[in-house]
Amino acid sequence: MNRDIIHLDMDAFYASVEVLDNPELKGLPVIVGGNSDRGVVCAASYEARAYGVHSALAIVVARRRCPQGIFRPVRMSRYHEVSEQVMAIFRHYTPRVEQISVDEAFLDVSGCQGLFGSAVEIAEMIRRRVREEIGLTISAGVAGCKLVAKIASDLNKPDGLTIVPHGREAEFLAPLPIKRLWGVGKKTLPTLNLLGVQTIGDLTRFSLDFLEKKFGKYGRHMYFCARGIDEREVECSHCTKSIGNEETFDRDVTDLQQIRKELLRLATRVGERLRRHHFSGRAVTLKIKYHDFISISRSLTLNQPTNDSRELYQAVLRLLPKTLAGNKPVRLVGIAVDKLQEDSLPRQLDLFGSKKTDRKELNKALDRINTRFGSHTIKPAALTDESSES
Ligand SMILES: [Mg+2]
Repeated sequence: MNRDIIHLDMDAFYASVEVLDNPELKGLPVIVGGNSDRGVVCAASYEARAYGVHSALAIVVARRRCPQGIFRPVRMSRYHEVSEQVMAIFRHYTPRVEQISVDEAFLDVSGCQGLFGSAVEIAEMIRRRVREEIGLTISAGVAGCKLVAKIASDLNKPDGLTIVPHGREAEFLAPLPIKRLWGVGKKTLPTLNLLGVQTIGDLTRFSLDFLEKKFGKYGRHMYFCARGIDEREVECSHCTKSIGNEETFDRDVTDLQQIRKELLRLATRVGERLRRHHFSGRAVTLKIKYHDFISISRSLTLNQPTNDSRELYQAVLRLLPKTLAGNKPVRLVGIAVDKLQEDSLPRQLDLFGSKKTDRKELNKALDRINTRFGSHTIKPAALTDESSES
């Protein structure tokens, strides 16, 4: 299934906000960065970039390269204010917004056509609104995956819109210099150049096997990136990312039995919440905070996503020895489950499928009873001697 992803990136954001708030700076080389000469450049207007000034450059060097530059201090709270207005425009078109930084986000607009038009039309509307309502320019890349959309948005900056049609990803990437690929940096670049790789297209001459032998896991990553294959989802902050519960003890606890009991209670509760929201999760995290407020967290990933409290509890018990710090009194314990997926989605068949179905039916029945007669009417036997429930 084709996805429609837009990467949006404000142009020279901090510097542009400075010009927005001080129109007399328009057309001048504006450099935003550290208040002293020891700082680095955080942003440079395109006029300043013409002098070779770019972000992360030492301020002293920037002054040398561009003596007539207008140097402004960073006003982070103001940039956040503008950022919120920009993100609000994005969210008008889809809840699936993954904000990468103060001025950059991915939008997944797959299936939004009926409401707002094609991905390209949505990108154009957003660009127009940012210009008209906020007074700033933003560049956009439209493609079928995050990697290509991000490279595309950068290609025609400032105020650019770059569209990569489905199926044309590899063709689009081929002529671009290899350093545009994510993660190709100082370490990998010389080796790639030695292999005669200058463009992303050059990389497609090598087999997966070869690249894996040469670069390990990263070679595999490059193999797929060079072909414009990137399955990563747009991870929206508005969508549920993790479900968890934590509990602070009334008094700090050292008794392992009591800690286990609390974990069983939490696992039961987290399982219920997952099922109520029709989620299953693969990653389980155990967090323990000690009396001195130092906390230790450990996670594991299950082979199959689950929303079964017993499975969660077993996972947590496996994590417990790694999370315990000697006999230090425990103040709080918490369980979180992430890598969530919606239960309606088809799932890989479990080898012990029948067993799991039984637990599923049991859980359903338990949840029905607890919903009807109040939470924790039915609970694990180990918790039944508790006199109070929180
Ligand atoms: Mg930017």
